[in-house]
Amino acid sequence: MRAAVFRQLGEPLTVEDVPEPEPAPGDLVLEVKSCGICGSDLHVSDVPPGLPPGTVMGHEFAGEVVEVGPEAPGGWKVGDRACSLPFIGCGRCAACLGGDGTACAGIQATGLGQIPGAYAERVRVGGLETLRLPDSVDFEQGATVEPLAVGLHAVRKSGLAPGANVLVIGAGPIGLATTLWARFFGARSVAVSEKAAGRLDLAARFGATHGIDASKDMPSVVFQRETGASPDVIFECVGVPGLLQECIMMAPARSKIVVVGVCMQPDTIFPGMAILKELSLDFVIAYRRDDFVFTLDMLDAERIDSKPMITDRVGLDGFAEAFEALKKPTTQCKVLLQP
Ligand SMILES: [Zn+2]
Ligand SMILES: [Zn+2]
Repeated sequence: MRAAVFRQLGEPLTVEDVPEPEPAPGDLVLEVKSCGICGSDLHVSDVPPGLPPGTVMGHEFAGEVVEVGPEAPGGWKVGDRACSLPFIGCGRCAACLGGDGTACAGIQATGLGQIPGAYAERVRVGGLETLRLPDSVDFEQGATVEPLAVGLHAVRKSGLAPGANVLVIGAGPIGLATTLWARFFGARSVAVSEKAAGRLDLAARFGATHGIDASKDMPSVVFQRETGASPDVIFECVGVPGLLQECIMMAPARSKIVVVGVCMQPDTIFPGMAILKELSLDFVIAYRRDDFVFTLDMLDAERIDSKPMITDRVGLDGFAEAFEALKKPTTQCKVLLQP
């Protein structure tokens, strides 16, 4: 089958013929219908330590079951429509059976060098980690469940109270997902701060009550002026060095910072300032199975809509160019591969 393959840091992906996925016991194979390009894929393909040469990335996908491996749980049939959590756990430990596969000691991640990902025609997934798409949820929405679940998990973990005032740093897909769920769970105001001003229109469609052009204004000053309040929770959804300290500086006393953006470099913070303000600092990773279930339920019930996030679609031909183009500042948001 054809797949987009990582060969070397800083080099474009190459579309190659690669071996067909072979389902192990408990696994399924999906034909990939849509797979989102994730910002973290752009990052790891450019910045050391990179990935093993030959890695197929892609962890935000939906597709159709084309093969059911032996002993696969869940009664899956060929032709079923599905999306998957992008990892396969051992399937036997308490974490796996409780829907928290990210805590499984035997976890293998999809699309990061262990299990080949979905920048390909087909992908191997775990029967336990795969969920049916409701009839009303198409493959494109199915591919947005993963980033939506990241935002949901962050908002749930923040313990956000109804009526809270929220500042979201960054209007990429994760910032938008966080904005959507913060409003969903009753935030009074959700201000989104973003340096690429074109993205603020999109933030409004995801429920942002205020947009802050961070290339011009101090987010904390605009927040106070526009909402008449200070943020109770700041979600950092970018993940570049220096930003965590900026959040600490702008956070009011006894507020909370939730770190969602994944910064893969050493970063310096000044703890004394956080101590004086008695800040809470929460780090969050990924999601639980239940975050996928709830996201699918809310898409099915039309309580949320992820479509505005999708700005572009591309086939495997032209995919490497589309992937490279996203590394430069752009007004695109979620670009979907449709192999
Ligand atoms: Zn991602
Ligand atoms: Zn396990």
